[in-house]
Amino acid sequence: MADLRDLYQELIIDHGRRPRNFGPLPQANRRADGFNPLCGDRLTVYLRMAGGVIADARFEGIGCAISTASASLMTEALKGKTVAEAEALFAGFHALVTGVAPPAVATLGKLTALAGVREFPARVKCATLAWHTLEAALHEEAQAVSTEETP
Ligand code: ZN
Repeated sequence: MADLRDLYQELIIDHGRRPRNFGPLPQANRRADGFNPLCGDRLTVYLRMAGGVIADARFEGIGCAISTASASLMTEALKGKTVAEAEALFAGFHALVTGVAPPAVATLGKLTALAGVREFPARVKCATLAWHTLEAALHEEAQAVSTEETP
């Protein structure tokens, strides 16, 4: 039985306390809001798509250390990725944290720090919230008018 402390690796604590890419993204042309009622995590994911690539990704919101760290690590991993690459990353990450399939660990990089959540089913929702929100953002245009055309 895993101990809850195993979940809070240094990388997660660091990203939970000092999230990267935190704050609004004025140039965003995609955004989505996510909410995890089980834990109370709320976040907004902002993307700036350019030429079919995620040129920039940021987030803001209030959540537990796991949801914040996951969103922070996610935004770091997304930059420069195509939509297909971002979705492949989500599939790999989802497999990693749910343990439903052998994850392609090699491609996940720092995201593997969150592998421990699979021992804590309630925490899986925290870890995947940012990714589900990303999915919504990728498939819906921002309500704000955008000056950027995306293919
Ligand atoms: Zn949470």
